Amino acid sequence: MKKIGILTSGGDAPGMNAAIRAITKTAIHYGIQPIGVLDGFEGLMNGWFKNMNYEDVDNIIQRGGTVLGSARAPKFKEKEARKEAIEHLEKAEIEGLIVIGGDGSFTGAHVLSSEMNIPVIGIPGTIDNDLYGTETTIGYDTALNTIVEAIDKIRDTATSHKRIFFVEVMGRNSGFLALNSAIASGAESVLIPETISDIEAIALQIKNQNKGRRSSIIIVAEGDEEGGAMDIMRKVKPHLKDYELRTTILGHIQRGGSPSFYDRSLATRSGIKAVELLMEGNTKKMIGIKSDELVTIDLKDAIDKNAFPKIEKEELLAKLLTK
Ligand code: ATP
Repeated sequence: MKKIGILTSGGDAPGMNAAIRAITKTAIHYGIQPIGVLDGFEGLMNGWFKNMNYEDVDNIIQRGGTVLGSARAPKFKEKEARKEAIEHLEKAEIEGLIVIGGDGSFTGAHVLSSEMNIPVIGIPGTIDNDLYGTETTIGYDTALNTIVEAIDKIRDTATSHKRIFFVEVMGRNSGFLALNSAIASGAESVLIPETISDIEAIALQIKNQNKGRRSSIIIVAEGDEEGGAMDIMRKVKPHLKDYELRTTILGHIQRGGSPSFYDRSLATRSGIKAVELLMEGNTKKMIGIKSDELVTIDLKDAIDKNAFPKIEKEELLAKLLTK
């Protein structure tokens, strides 16, 4: 193996740079030329490649975002566009590709790998933690810390003014960020897509909890079926006329910032493993982590199987409907 490509795709996540650094250094160590693909699948379709050397990864382990750039590239869903990508890979004599991203990126990587002979390995890089086959993903820990820090600040002002805050956090269709930030920040309530939200029950809970309390924080996952924090606040308002309600949408602040120790460590270990998996002749695999051990699972399982318990939710719905 003489050349391998590295690509970051989808939403950026803190720790992606640490993974790029580890892949680059490991490849060079084994006498392989690492090639950075700029701007994710967009760059792959356009042949935006860059030889990576030690200097390119100096002082990036502590930086959020991705030095290679990322992009949403819907055109990559078209077979013709992927054909162009394959031609660029072959022309550059790239013999293996490492994709750092979320489930969308892995869907793209899997389709691509079925249409070419170049092996592909996936490293989970997304703050949402919404991938099957791994306990956590690069960026998730940092995002959680960012959210908890922000909620602590909101709590200060909420308590001073006796207010109820609805705080919206990211996570797409998954409630991991919401649930775990609620636990760590001592939030009074949390709404996640995996469970059914009952607006009246929430209002009642707030009323009961608020007796003698100066503030309440309700975390709302952006993918909740009742809507975002603004929607929930609007729906709860008629039940809580005597209370002062406020909304904060944390937004993209959750994506940025210097990666935590955990994300740097996970990214570094995964980056080394990805190069070694390619060298051993593996393809269509994703690296995950379970009980602090790196594991390897089929890329297809990571995409097809659900990271969150949808079946339980359906069961829950069925139970409620038959009540
Ligand atoms: P995150 O969830 O953190 O934002 P992600 O990897 O899920 O990350 P997406 O925007 O869903 O982010 O996907 C990234 C890119 O993967 C898309 O812009 C597109 O180029 C590619 N992709 C997604 N789905 C497919 C698909 N079905 N076929 C081919 N390519 C796809």
